[in-house]
Amino acid sequence: MNKIELLAPAKDFEKAKTAIDYGADAVYLGGKSFSLRTRASNFENEDIKRIVEYAHSRGVKIYVTVNIVFHDEDFDGLKEYLKLLDSYGVDAVIVTSPFVMTLSKSVAPDMEVHVSTQLSSLNSEAISTLKSFGADRVVLGREASMPEIVSICSTSKLPVEVFIHGGMCSNYSGRCVMSNRMTNRDANRGGCAHSCRWKYHVYEGGVLISDPNNPLSMSSKDLRAVEYITDMIYCGVSSLKIEGRMKSEYYIAQVVKTYRKLIDEVYENLSINKDRIEYYNRELFKAENRPSDTGFLSGTADESKSLYGVNGAGVTHDYVGIVKGYDERRGLALIEVKNMFDLGDQLEVFGPAIDNKTFVNRVMFDQEWHLLGEAHKPTETIYVRIPFRVSANDMVRKIHES
Ligand code: SF4
Repeated sequence: MNKIELLAPAKDFEKAKTAIDYGADAVYLGGKSFSLRTRASNFENEDIKRIVEYAHSRGVKIYVTVNIVFHDEDFDGLKEYLKLLDSYGVDAVIVTSPFVMTLSKSVAPDMEVHVSTQLSSLNSEAISTLKSFGADRVVLGREASMPEIVSICSTSKLPVEVFIHGGMCSNYSGRCVMSNRMTNRDANRGGCAHSCRWKYHVYEGGVLISDPNNPLSMSSKDLRAVEYITDMIYCGVSSLKIEGRMKSEYYIAQVVKTYRKLIDEVYENLSINKDRIEYYNRELFKAENRPSDTGFLSGTADESKSLYGVNGAGVTHDYVGIVKGYDERRGLALIEVKNMFDLGDQLEVFGPAIDNKTFVNRVMFDQEWHLLGEAHKPTETIYVRIPFRVSANDMVRKIHES
């Protein structure tokens, strides 16, 4: 059987490279036009070309989002853009509009068309119809339960992609105008201001009825699907998608690496036990900045899957630096500081080829070989004594005492 695909997001060239280096089979990204994260994207056309070359040289695929909800004024240059993406060798475009599906197939027949989650496809009949528009794959709506995914996969006429991790909407995947109303930023044309995550005071007839010290949000918890990966593999899902085109390189690295290891373990051992599920969940908590849950996979998302007040999760680790090189003879790593850390901190290194090796930070120097007691200047490059071999692009994080 074909191995399931792990599909990661990227905001710019460096983050796409991180996703690839940490084990993604495919990366999706948006250009400056026609994408739902236009404000987040740093992919100029030339960068898309560069990342396609980098990815293909490593057997990784690149998908480009063209998934805004089109108004008449949005079509200018679309045909040329689709042709350009095809000329770069982009493997697929992710689209919402049936018109764009047919247009893409007519101007770039070899480039696959994947139907965006924005279309909220939640049944096999819809998938059959989308096939007639030229779709090659359908990303299911994030509102599908696991039994529904099993059922859809058993009858679907197209490969199915499922979200497994990251932010959720309080409305049907992005089909929401809250941001439009509150900020004049169109959520469906790349401008969502995450208004559902803001804090609100609730008034009735001019009287405050919510706790004045504890304002409410309407936000959904993030999605985390570790316990469902085995079922998804066995029921025939083709691709597992991580949300987060706005996320940091650290988040991308940790989440991609965790699911990469999990998927490989399932293929190797044919299943994973409860302890391993807990282990992978703990790994994801190292990258998490919002509370998470199983979303609709475990059934209707009730109030336990929403965030009415709290917005931050208990972060267990802080990303503090990235390795630029390692002098094995002296046991010194050259580190670019990302966040503050001090002598005496317990640090952990992880990377594409290294798993969670820890050490206590005993010796640091600046570039002039002055001893340091603290590393408090982000972007500064310093030397840190690390008692085991590390490699360029490994990441260093500080373990919280609790
Ligand atoms: S405001 Fe919230 S629910 Fe609406 S599109 Fe944005 S993230 Fe989704």
